[in-house]
Amino acid sequence: MIKVCKFGGTSMADGMTMRRVKDIFESDPERRYIVVSAPGKRFSGDIKVTDLLYETHKEVEETGSCGEAFEKICARFSGIVQELKIDLDIGSILQETKKAIEEEKSADFAASRGEYLSGRIMAALLNIPFIDARDVIKFDASGKLESARSFELLARALSGKPKALVTGFYGEGADGKVKTFSRGGSDISGAIVARAAGAALYENWTDVSGFLACDPRIVENPVPIRSLSYKELRELSYMGANVLHSESIFPVREADIPIRIKNTFRPEDEGTLIMPTSKYRFSGRTVTGVAGKKNFTVIFVEKSLMNLEIGFARKILTVLENHGVSFEHIPTGIDTMSFIIDGAHLPSGVLEQIIAEIKEAVHPDQMRVFDRISLIAVVGHGMSRNVGTSARVFSAIAGAGVNVRMIDQGSSELNIIVGVDDENYERTLRAVYEEFFTGAEEIN
Ligand code: ASP
Repeated sequence: MIKVCKFGGTSMADGMTMRRVKDIFESDPERRYIVVSAPGKRFSGDIKVTDLLYETHKEVEETGSCGEAFEKICARFSGIVQELKIDLDIGSILQETKKAIEEEKSADFAASRGEYLSGRIMAALLNIPFIDARDVIKFDASGKLESARSFELLARALSGKPKALVTGFYGEGADGKVKTFSRGGSDISGAIVARAAGAALYENWTDVSGFLACDPRIVENPVPIRSLSYKELRELSYMGANVLHSESIFPVREADIPIRIKNTFRPEDEGTLIMPTSKYRFSGRTVTGVAGKKNFTVIFVEKSLMNLEIGFARKILTVLENHGVSFEHIPTGIDTMSFIIDGAHLPSGVLEQIIAEIKEAVHPDQMRVFDRISLIAVVGHGMSRNVGTSARVFSAIAGAGVNVRMIDQGSSELNIIVGVDDENYERTLRAVYEEFFTGAEEIN
């Protein structure tokens, strides 16, 4: 059985944690391939190497070189190599890297060097072959991952190698230049390697012991979730439960490869097992987890008889598309439609233009915009089996004295999404959590 393990930034933060990674990787012969992140924070207030690298790129843009910002990168990596006492000429590698960052003049290239450098060090420490993701993970001209091609290139690179390291976070675009995933994207790289290697398990090693039923910054000691389905994971991580990148399931899903979240600093903890949805067995629980995000904007459009106006929604969506703005949900009534947009996707000034263009396109009777709306997702396959779940959600929210601004229930009955004002976000999360989880010790 092949296991692929991915280690995140805190696991790679310094020489001591890298030694831990080595111990974990070597303690199980089934752990064959390893994917690593760039060194993350060593203590609160520390700066992640990836963030330092974005700084170096800024310096290159402003001054043509990156002397000052790159000093910090050199100090970090030279310190690690010294601590590990490995035979690697890190000085020359760092000089080459600096030159390449100055020549490439690309933010993606600069950011990718964190994974490149930590990969070089870790491969030397483990004494296993180093595979540069640039050679095996490919994106098409629109920036989408070329999955089939990447799986094939990777499978070829791994074949005949009992063990190997692959760098996380980046690959190569159609223009031959390095391209990164979005932040936290080494989780996706790990999933791609697991798929290409035909792994039986994708282990994702991080600094927490798996998923919790709610955000621990808001609810005190939320119960751990021992297992969940791919679909539940997608809903929860998309809505802010940020243990794992929300896109990591796509490469493993088609091959039914389960993911186990493990804690590098408490390897004895069971963690969370994420199972293919087809293998989901009803365990009796109603709700698996509650997650949420703040700062959404709702564009509310009302027009009598809109249901008879063919192309009404399309015209509005075309306006959004022309501005490159994606939407999250569209709850509808007979004569009303609301478009819910993540505030982060609305640069200032764009909203006013969008509103003017929607007015022009569909001549609504009324249009209103609400901003600073939070969305809270109550997630669980069990909801479809239990009558009255939504009644419980809404009476808990009403009991907390919170006014519900919007409701959306997916037709899969996997989630109920509730919109409330940002100022009520924490209170709503706590109320819903208490309704479903008081007295529970863990979610199986
Ligand atoms: N190093 C990258 C980041 O900080 C990618 C990752 O760690 O997954 O976002």
